[in-house]
Amino acid sequence: MTWVHIVGGGMSGLSLAAELASYGNLPGKVIVSEPQTIFSKNQTFSYWQSNKAENFDFPTRKYSNWVFSFGDEVITHSGKEWSYHSISSQAFFERCIEKISLNDQCEIHKEFIYERPKAVHIFDSRPLSISDFRVYQTFYGVEFNFGDKHQLNTNTAYLMTEMQTKGINFYFNYLLPLDQHSLLIEATAFSTAPVNFKTLSNEVYSWIRRKQISGTVVKIEKGIIPMGIRRKPNDTFGTPIGTRGEMGRNSSGYTFFNVQKWVQAAAKKLIYENRALPYSRGVLEVESDNIFLKIIEKNPSILPEIFTMIARKIQPDHFAEFMTAVNLKNLAQIIRCAPKKPFLTAAFF
Ligand SMILES: Cc1cc2nc3c(=O)[nH]c(=O)nc-3n(C[C@H](O)[C@H](O)[C@H](O)COP(=O)(O)OP(=O)(O)OC[C@H]3O[C@@H](n4cnc5c(N)ncnc54)[C@H](O)[C@@H]3O)c2cc1C
Repeated sequence: MTWVHIVGGGMSGLSLAAELASYGNLPGKVIVSEPQTIFSKNQTFSYWQSNKAENFDFPTRKYSNWVFSFGDEVITHSGKEWSYHSISSQAFFERCIEKISLNDQCEIHKEFIYERPKAVHIFDSRPLSISDFRVYQTFYGVEFNFGDKHQLNTNTAYLMTEMQTKGINFYFNYLLPLDQHSLLIEATAFSTAPVNFKTLSNEVYSWIRRKQISGTVVKIEKGIIPMGIRRKPNDTFGTPIGTRGEMGRNSSGYTFFNVQKWVQAAAKKLIYENRALPYSRGVLEVESDNIFLKIIEKNPSILPEIFTMIARKIQPDHFAEFMTAVNLKNLAQIIRCAPKKPFLTAAFF
């Protein structure tokens, strides 16, 4: 009998299979079922990590600074103990597939799974239905290759720039220098319904026109990801993982880091105890993210001010740590820096 069956070979499914494959001799077969024949080249996975933490075993681009802007105000954070990292999905998936292919007990099957497979442990990473998202993060980005060097600092991630609210949607631009010549230019919206990609692509191309830059579009990166879910799916085949397993951070949509940390712990548990490790989030994270979601739902017009006030006052390392894992110390810093009235209103009503 199959030992581990992973439904879905996207980011979380391949991460788990690759981690298991790296253990060498396994108690049984590991199967990943994935219907797509081409693994996505059009994603960039970013996350914060403490400089003291042991790096994952894949190379990333590292950024020491991250920037926010609203109106004329530009706030630059310089991490002392924390950095922002990114890796292209192509590089990440190639690495996973290489690790999986080195272990002949691990197989990737090109198939779509309709029924609960038979295996000792089943992990289910099928995407959630979009109608189950609570708040939507819609983004449209282009990887733009400049003829000349661009003028942005390659050690800086331009995280939330040109923040603004239009109607009931909160928008910002995310700019990530990939090297001296290429830049990921992404327009993002947080909203209670998905935003049309056309609206966001117009914003990207208008940014390019405003900056009067010339070059070529290398690829498009777009998506609609959940920020919280309304209801859990009731047809789960096994332990839900990835977005389905609510491993994404509700206030930001960031999922990659949580998946990598969980995968390390989950593989150990499977190998040494033959038990599946369900993912769980801390109560502080759930509650604090819920406040952000309520503000997006009920009072999005104040979001640029909230993010700006937090960015202005908080120590950069506390911010990066809060974005990665909430604890009492970094939550207290967020509360200290955020405007009090909207926070209290969202917390209690
Ligand atoms: C463009 C983009 C950029 C992102 N950037 C970041 C980032 O910078 N940082 C971050 O932390 N997060 C980011 N995310 C969010 C998150 O990390 C990704 O969405 C990630 O891919 C989620 O992984 P997953 O395994 O849950 O889902 P997926 O990677 O979507 O994998 C699910 C897989 O299941 C397969 N599948 C579906 N149905 C079946 C079936 N019945 N049988 C078998 N297989 C099936 C699908 O084909 C798919 O490959 C980004 C998301 C997108 C879309």
